[in-house]
Amino acid sequence: MAEQLEVLKRLQGLDGQLYRLRRQRADTPRELEQVAAVVGARQAQVSGVEARLKSLQMAQKEKELELQTKEASVKKFQAQLFQVKTNKEYAALQREIEALKADNSLFEEAILKTLEAIDEVLRERTRVTQQLEEQQRRWRSEQERVTRELSAIEEQIAQLERERQALVSEVHPETLALYERVLHLREGLALVPLVGEACGGCDRRLPPQVINEVYLKPGLVSCEHCSRILYFDDARSKL
Ligand SMILES: [Zn+2]
Repeated sequence: MAEQLEVLKRLQGLDGQLYRLRRQRADTPRELEQVAAVVGARQAQVSGVEARLKSLQMAQKEKELELQTKEASVKKFQAQLFQVKTNKEYAALQREIEALKADNSLFEEAILKTLEAIDEVLRERTRVTQQLEEQQRRWRSEQERVTRELSAIEEQIAQLERERQALVSEVHPETLALYERVLHLREGLALVPLVGEACGGCDRRLPPQVINEVYLKPGLVSCEHCSRILYFDDARSKL
C-alpha cells in the first residue's frame, strides 16, 4: 500500500496540473470575449454617429433645395417689378420681395448652423473611428496572445496526459477507480496529507484511530467528511 500511495502522490501531482490547465483552457477565451464586447460597443457608437451624420446631411440638402426655390421666387417677383402699372402695386411687390429676402437670410443662417453641426459630427466620427480601430488592434493582438497561450496549454496537457497514461498502469484498478471517483467529485484534488490532526483537503479534524490507520498504511483511508484519500506526511502530519 505504501508503494501504491507513492504512485498516487505522483498521479495527484499530474492531475492537479491537468485540472489547473483545463480550467485555464476554459477561462482564457473569456478574456477575448471581454475585448470583443468593447469592440462591439465602439462599433455601435460609430454607427450611431454615422446615422446622425446622414440625417444632418439629408436635412442640409433639403434646406438647400428649399432655399433655391425661395431665391427663384424672389427673382420672379423682381422681374414682375417691371411689369406693374401703379406705384401702389410696385410698393406692395417691393414689400413682398423684402419679406422674402428676410425670410431667406434666416434660412441661410439655419443652413450655416446645420453645416457647423455636420462639421462637429465629422470630427466626432474621426474620434470614435480612431477609438474603434484602437480596440480592433487590441482585439487582434489579444486574439494572437490567446491562440498562442491555448496552443501552449494544449501541448502541456498532451504531455501530462502521456505521463499520466504511463503512471496509471502502475495503480491497482480498484485503487484507481476510487481515486478517480474522488478526483472527479473534488475537482482535481483526491489525495491530501494529514495536516496536524486535520484533513489537508477540507481542514476538518479527524479522530485518533483514523490518524493511526493513515500512519500505519494498512489500506486506503478516506476522510469521513470530504472522501479525499489521506496520507501521512512526516513534516506536516501529527500522530
Ligand atoms: Zn476531508
